Amino acid sequence: MWVNSVQLRAQLGLQNCLLRLRPAIPYLQGMMLLALVGLLLIPLFGQAPIYQWQTPWNNGQLFSEWVLWGVWYPGTLLSVLLVGRFWCGILCPLGALSEWVSRVGAQFRLPGWLRHPIAPALSFMLVTLWAQTLDVRDDLRSALLLFGVVFALAVGCGLLFGSSTAVGRRAWCRHLCPIGSVLGVFSRLGVMSLELLRPSTTAEGYREQGICPTSIELRTKQSSRHCIKCARCIKPQSRGGLEVTLRRPGTEIKGIERHAPCGAELAFIWFAPGLAIAGFIWSVTPLYIQLRQGLGQWGMSQHWYGLFARGPSWLMNQNASIDQHYLWLDFFSITLFMLGAALVLALLLGACSLLGAWAMGRMEQLPLSKRLTLVGYQFAPLAMLCILLGLGSTLFSSLKSAFGPWLIYLELGLLLMALLFNLWISARWLLLKKLNHWRLGLSFTAILIGCLVISLVTLWSIFPAYQPG
Ligand code: SF4
Repeated sequence: MWVNSVQLRAQLGLQNCLLRLRPAIPYLQGMMLLALVGLLLIPLFGQAPIYQWQTPWNNGQLFSEWVLWGVWYPGTLLSVLLVGRFWCGILCPLGALSEWVSRVGAQFRLPGWLRHPIAPALSFMLVTLWAQTLDVRDDLRSALLLFGVVFALAVGCGLLFGSSTAVGRRAWCRHLCPIGSVLGVFSRLGVMSLELLRPSTTAEGYREQGICPTSIELRTKQSSRHCIKCARCIKPQSRGGLEVTLRRPGTEIKGIERHAPCGAELAFIWFAPGLAIAGFIWSVTPLYIQLRQGLGQWGMSQHWYGLFARGPSWLMNQNASIDQHYLWLDFFSITLFMLGAALVLALLLGACSLLGAWAMGRMEQLPLSKRLTLVGYQFAPLAMLCILLGLGSTLFSSLKSAFGPWLIYLELGLLLMALLFNLWISARWLLLKKLNHWRLGLSFTAILIGCLVISLVTLWSIFPAYQPG
């Protein structure tokens, strides 16, 4: 009772905050846009980071790299655990720009391939690979190129698919944004959500011309993945309005069948962790060196000498100030290594999900493909940690200089917490299914094996120096 009243008051307080914030949102977004442009452009007029003694505190480029990859990227990832895609709707300058220009958009219909739910996951994978071959974390000019292209795509999306109703649209945020796809999947774990007073029992719909900028059919909203917390639909006086709700972390995964599960998100949950960890680890693991050597020897034996030429600077890093020039060999090695790691992990998680789905039998008359989707979601918490440690590695590297070797205990503690949390959610989800003992045991074992596999891969990022040679 007491907990309920505290929760209600917190929900109301947050809702009022969001409503009060609404008029200020464009100004916040404008400031974020200026800050991002400043971070990307101003340090390029200063000295390049070429000496060992240079740090983020005495060099502008290093400072910008640290803010982008050590604060912004992991910060937005972590924020979804509390507030879902708040970043996207309230602060993101790319989404805001796309929305602003959409008011004068050409109103083209979104092509079917762009509306396919796999599009955001593919966008994430492509941009993650490109970011690695460009070495955006260590070269601000490359980061400028990457952000420039992403900005252009976001604006192009707004201009092409903008609305005739003068309501800002966010086709970019729903269908193409590479970060939005990560935040969308993991916002399902988040504490804050916007929900209907009476939950919908019909499938979540899609409506291009409603008030929701990401085209959610509000009367049928069931999931958080496309909700960018823009607060337009909060209407306390209206029966059809949504309200801010606080829930336990992982609620949507624990009851995933009632929250618009989507098979395409599995591509993300299964592939992205391997991609993220490999993106962090390739430069320090002997496995990558072996792959590069093998590929180089094979190229020589085939007389493919073009493999040893420098590639274009829009595709791979060419940093003259530190004499770092990627060859086509580097490009293919990095890409193959990351895709290979992603594929191996995805196959393992897919096999565990399949075993779990099979063990559940014809639960609730669901076909195997549906059960596979539901089991696949059960790996979401650990997948998120894996991505955080992989793509947010700049944060952990800078923490290392503050905490020294103690940081490893923090990382191991995070991993243990995520593993236990993941198993707890999955166990509770399975217990609701009323399976007999052996089906319950076998399906939980399948999920347990999958969780241990992701944990082992995560350990790879924590102990990169201890890889098999
Ligand atoms: S559901 Fe509401 S808060 Fe979420 S994106 Fe749509 S209009 Fe904005």
